[in-house]
Amino acid sequence: MSGSLVVVGTGPGKAELMTPATQAAIAEATDLVGYGPYLERVPAVQGQCRHASDNRVELDRARHALSLAASGRKVAVVSGGDPGVFAMAAAVFEAVEAGDPAWRSLDIRVEPGVTAMLAAAAEVGAPLGGDFCAISLSDNLKSWSTIERRLKAAAEADFVIALYNPASKARPHQLGEAFELLRAMKAGDTVVLLVRAAGTNEARVIVTTLAEADATQVDMRTLVIVGASTTHRVGRWVYTPRGAKLKSQRTTAPTSAMTSPEGL
Ligand code: SAH
Repeated sequence: MSGSLVVVGTGPGKAELMTPATQAAIAEATDLVGYGPYLERVPAVQGQCRHASDNRVELDRARHALSLAASGRKVAVVSGGDPGVFAMAAAVFEAVEAGDPAWRSLDIRVEPGVTAMLAAAAEVGAPLGGDFCAISLSDNLKSWSTIERRLKAAAEADFVIALYNPASKARPHQLGEAFELLRAMKAGDTVVLLVRAAGTNEARVIVTTLAEADATQVDMRTLVIVGASTTHRVGRWVYTPRGAKLKSQRTTAPTSAMTSPEGL
């Protein structure tokens, strides 16, 4: 019997936001590997082995999953959100690259999931409606100067910026520093969203501005979205129009070609 490894994303938390493909991959696995709290979200299957580990040991976890697959097991590596966004899928391929050459011929695949920024955006409207980027503020695997360079580039280009891993006990000051850097480059009234536990029944949204954003209201279960210059409120929602400027801000009347909807 030949083994296999599938890396799945369980979505942001709510069971309904887990895809049927992920549910099927989990149900078929002989072994589940993942961070304890993510494994707890997954319904128990009789006879299945669960290998829960600490959050910080992603590469060890990836190597363990690969050796189980190489020994013939059907392994599902369980990640929160989407497994390819700041998560286990990349750790698995890093382990393949540095590990036993035989791992390259294993049956490895990835099932996508709803990532935190999509669940967070949906809580408030459509803040990612225009061009956006995602930056992890964690400096476990990259330098803080790299993070600063990327924040500056994103602000300069007027992207909507989704910030993952915005805070932790080990580095409480970093989000404050990121806000300071952005305040120097963007308008004070830029919309900022602090969305905690998006896509769960405990979701909490704070809509504020860059001038007033308070880093102490943010924890590791929060996704921060810093708007572009066009991001704004309409009623109780926040959205970013798809084009560079709002119709009402245009100085000349748009032609019909410019107003025809794209991608609908
Ligand atoms: N693979 C995950 C992200 C892992 S990084 C995904 O695709 O969502 C972990 C960070 O994701 C957290 O620090 C937080 O910023 C964000 N996050 C994860 N789940 C979240 C949720 N339900 N609500 C808000 N942010 C969340």
